[in-house]
Amino acid sequence: MSILWQARFYTTVNHLRNLPDLTVPELAFAGRSNAGKSTAINILCNQKKLAFASKTPGRTQHINYFSIGGAHVGQHRKDPTIVEEIRALLVDLPGYGYAEVAGSAKNHWNELLGSYVRNRDQLSALVLIMDARRPFTDLDKQMLEWFAPTGRPVHCILAKADKLNRNDATNALRLTRSVLASYVDQDGKPFPYTAQLFSALKRTGLEEADAKIQQLLGLDVLPADVLSELQVDYQPDADDAFDPAYDADTDIAADRSAP
Ligand code: GDP
Repeated sequence: MSILWQARFYTTVNHLRNLPDLTVPELAFAGRSNAGKSTAINILCNQKKLAFASKTPGRTQHINYFSIGGAHVGQHRKDPTIVEEIRALLVDLPGYGYAEVAGSAKNHWNELLGSYVRNRDQLSALVLIMDARRPFTDLDKQMLEWFAPTGRPVHCILAKADKLNRNDATNALRLTRSVLASYVDQDGKPFPYTAQLFSALKRTGLEEADAKIQQLLGLDVLPADVLSELQVDYQPDADDAFDPAYDADTDIAADRSAP
């Protein structure tokens, strides 16, 4: 069970002036329409319809916020979300690159998305969801260009990895890492950029993504009041910790050879 399972719909925003005034860290999910973003959010939060997964890409043009920590269970219960107890917000950004979004809607969207990722102080990290079969389309690069000046972490999730064989999946990951490594700050130091393979269908890469998101939001550390109650140094359980030896490729290969 992950703390992300507590995610609840918080609010939806169509104008920057309406962004929530909470100061807790936000982690945003960005990606092309149809990359697998909603599916990834839903599986990470263990809820079927938290994010709107659709066969009609481009329908979600708003920024959707989900809260973590304001309630101890997810969406299904009617108890209220306690705003003061919210520890973090997950932000589902509108999918981009949908050909049929034209003209002023596209401009509005570009403005909303670009300004949000460039200027939002609370935005601690970006999770960029890309189809493993075509990482780094021009619009993905655009997203990275917008966000890079903040110097904050980006984690790339290569979704639908089940659609590739082991070799192609490894190559996609390698390619992604080499693109990420090409971004350096003004002192030539690499940015804190990471990447992984992921398949909602085969449930591969799930633990790795979960651990990374918690780490990026600081949720892997217990709050001070809980720590003092325990009166011991908090040591994460072996179960919660990200296993550095975890290899999604091996997982995929194992899935493939399973009967
Ligand atoms: P979004 O537009 O980025 O939110 O994409 P969706 O999550 O709606 O997914 C787009 C399509 O890809 C849907 O038909 C999903 O069922 C499918 N899909 C999502 N994740 C996976 C995956 O891991 N493997 C496979 N094979 N299909 C997936």
